[in-house]
Amino acid sequence: MIRPCRLRYAATMETGETETISAPAILTTTESHFRVLLITDLHSDAEERLNEKTRDMVRTFVAHFEPHLVAGLGDLWCGDSHPEAAAMWMRRDLDFLGGLGCPWGLALGNHDWCGDFESFWNTVARTPNAVAPVGDGAGSFRIELRSGSGEPAWDLFFLNSGDAWEVPRRTEWFEAEMTLLRHKRGREVPALCCFHIPTGNYQAVIDGAKTQGVGNESVLGWGDDDGAVADILTRLGLVRACFCGHSHRNDFHFVDRGTLFAYARPTGFGGYGGEDLSKGATELELDMDSGDFRFRSVFLQDEMWCANDWTDSTRLFSE
Ligand SMILES: [Zn+2]
Ligand SMILES: [Zn+2]
Repeated sequence: MIRPCRLRYAATMETGETETISAPAILTTTESHFRVLLITDLHSDAEERLNEKTRDMVRTFVAHFEPHLVAGLGDLWCGDSHPEAAAMWMRRDLDFLGGLGCPWGLALGNHDWCGDFESFWNTVARTPNAVAPVGDGAGSFRIELRSGSGEPAWDLFFLNSGDAWEVPRRTEWFEAEMTLLRHKRGREVPALCCFHIPTGNYQAVIDGAKTQGVGNESVLGWGDDDGAVADILTRLGLVRACFCGHSHRNDFHFVDRGTLFAYARPTGFGGYGGEDLSKGATELELDMDSGDFRFRSVFLQDEMWCANDWTDSTRLFSE
């Protein structure tokens, strides 16, 4: 049975306070921690039996974890090679997300068919509980988390990495927003980035055997072989953590220049790799006061629910 989220939230669109900062969505909680359930790579272009198994698992995680936000990190309905069916698959997944009973947002994956982007985004935004501000108008946007006092506590950036990272096309909006926000606020607010395709530095750590967690395959960090994206994400020192999807056999993390880079646990039973890495999701808790966070993978293995130990940022960054 699905229990409703206990979150008392307000998801409101605001007019940008300057002409240059785009309007974020705003989520407010009076709780001490903001909980995010990260799901990725549903690949629900698979047979419906597998899709239903995936949906059941996600509903179970939502009922157990009671997230304030479900974040989909791409390759959800897919359909790029079956455009005749893709619109139906997309509608099916949007209905599923809209029926979870809590706010949700998504970053597009390289397989996610969407047709005309503007009408697609309007469709997303009209789906129940969708958190989908216009942002850059091309699938990248910001959610501002506010504490009970009304002060911004975190910025959550969803970035569209496209079919492959392109710099500056996929990063310039983010960079401009971060610079303006810091200038306008006059103080540092921690940020988190969600995107689909890993940045190039993921491959460097797996090559150097410096991963924490499971690294079974090449990360497929398309378009970012020179590591330019991570340079941009870490430049201002405000991004505390990045989570990606895309490589279904990997679930590891590392710290680069004071920023955590991690995988979200692959979720969809219709996606490849389940024989090497059990499907699941990632639970993430953001401290609304200190900027600390912790996360762990939860997964279904031998029909049993399992969870890794929490990885705590206070420990991670002091190691
Ligand atoms: Zn995938
Ligand atoms: Zn992918």
